[in-house]
Amino acid sequence: MSNQASAGQDANPITLTNSTATSYAQNGEIMSSTSLCHCVAFRLDDIQDYFLDNVQSEIIRKFEANNSSLTIGIIGHYFGQDKKLVQFVNDSLGQSKRTNFTIEIANHGWNHEDFATLNQDAQYSLMLESNQKIHDILGITPTVFIPPYNRFDEGTLHAANETGIQYISSNATLGNSIHPDYYSNLIVAPYQSTTQRLGISLLPSLASTGDLSPDNNLWLGYKSNQTFNALQKSVDQLGFAVVTMHPQEYSLRDGLNYTNQVDEEQMHELQLLIEKIHQTDLKIVTISEIQVMPQPAISSTPEFSTDFLLIYVLPIILIIATKPILMRLHKYTI
Ligand SMILES: [Zn+2]
Repeated sequence: MSNQASAGQDANPITLTNSTATSYAQNGEIMSSTSLCHCVAFRLDDIQDYFLDNVQSEIIRKFEANNSSLTIGIIGHYFGQDKKLVQFVNDSLGQSKRTNFTIEIANHGWNHEDFATLNQDAQYSLMLESNQKIHDILGITPTVFIPPYNRFDEGTLHAANETGIQYISSNATLGNSIHPDYYSNLIVAPYQSTTQRLGISLLPSLASTGDLSPDNNLWLGYKSNQTFNALQKSVDQLGFAVVTMHPQEYSLRDGLNYTNQVDEEQMHELQLLIEKIHQTDLKIVTISEIQVMPQPAISSTPEFSTDFLLIYVLPIILIIATKPILMRLHKYTI
């Protein structure tokens, strides 16, 4: 279709495999940012009219059939005309009220624009416009934002706060590159004070079911084992995993063109992946159910250790607090 967004070119490098559960704030303190939910959220990006809509629907149906929750990222400007797709999403929303399957609607930009290139006001307008359109069509106002191209900045956090967005998930994987401190240094640390102040959770995705080929021409689907290993590493490190998916990974191709037909082999890999997760104690949830927020600092500097507080600070506080009582006692005894 001529009005398609540049769908799915969410290329922002990096796979993280560190197994520690800490991240580092700018002042050197170790900040715990793990979630205790021990869960996995799947996000399906680039939901839009007439674009592989059979494939989009089949993926959603797969989660429904497995009683497993899913978050879908809708591109606001390109959603609402495709009656078949809108009807399907509406039916899934109805279904999610009656079963354990929950479909969550996320904002994936107005026109799949790169928010990091825009000022805060522009980001706010586009985020709001998309939220309003989604509300007009589905009666739901998203609280989750999936930045197109996985790019965001400080302005995105403020725009999110002004539009009622509480969760931002960007993907931080690229092939097999390993950047162990990516999550800590580039996602958490620079934004930590703002996210804490505004009450926004940053939920990076460190696993996916596929990725663009190195020449950016094809979406390649991963085997279920590969995705499962990546999501386990994410759970080890963060306490949760967000798994990114695109409809392109699940569609058959004719040369370089995607067809609107499901790639059954890849869909089978998704089935295996969901079953594998069900065999563990990991829960499959929506993004907003992860509920992670950075925890109070656990300082790495010894002078602020618990021992220091007990040995030196507590006695001083006790002396100061009891001094008036002691003085009063003294007064009555003389
Ligand atoms: Zn996208």
